[in-house]
Amino acid sequence: MFKKKIKEIVIGSNNEGKIKEIKDLLPKYYIITSPKDYGLKSPRENGKTFLKNSLIKAKYFSKKTGKICIADDSGLEVKLLNNQPGIYSARWAGKKSNFDLAISKIYKKLSAYDKNWKLKKIKARFICALTVYGLKKNPIQSIGIIDGKISKKKLGKNGFGYDPIFIPENRRLTFGQISPKLKFRNDHRSKAFKKIKKFF
Ligand code: IMP
Repeated sequence: MFKKKIKEIVIGSNNEGKIKEIKDLLPKYYIITSPKDYGLKSPRENGKTFLKNSLIKAKYFSKKTGKICIADDSGLEVKLLNNQPGIYSARWAGKKSNFDLAISKIYKKLSAYDKNWKLKKIKARFICALTVYGLKKNPIQSIGIIDGKISKKKLGKNGFGYDPIFIPENRRLTFGQISPKLKFRNDHRSKAFKKIKKFF
């Protein structure tokens, strides 16, 4: 009987939160690795868009490992802050990935912009661009978006990054308060993945 050759996919990220989530989305018959398994650090993300930066990462890790790579570039856009931090979401947390720092930066900027911001709905959205490199002749790309608002304070210990301050639309709890399973079901990453699922 014809047996499908088991393929390896490198998840092109050094962010444990993302690796866990993307691993969960991929079909179980793939062997999943990450740049850490190859002793690789992330390349410089000098693109101006989420799509470009995800392509930079997917191409880099695929070329370095000789394997298929799926990489995402994602971030939080806060409408009142002119869509900041956007592609700089990770960089706002500094070299030590300190998201208490990044979150306090958001709160500080909101207060500077409008000292009554806590009385208002502060629209925000998470965006995820995915690129799969090495699976088909050309890179496969997609984008997923989830709309929501900024919580008045940090709530919940689940997830990673900005999860404790993001409340998805039509919900009361932050991504930090809900179970990872519930978050994965409908967030920006899973929405982007659903669009390219058929290629795997
Ligand atoms: P990069 O794509 O590696 O440049 O980093 C994106 C950054 O956006 C992450 O480090 C997080 O801070 C933030 N981010 C992206 N997706 C999520 C999410 O699902 N929850 C919380 N923060 C996120």
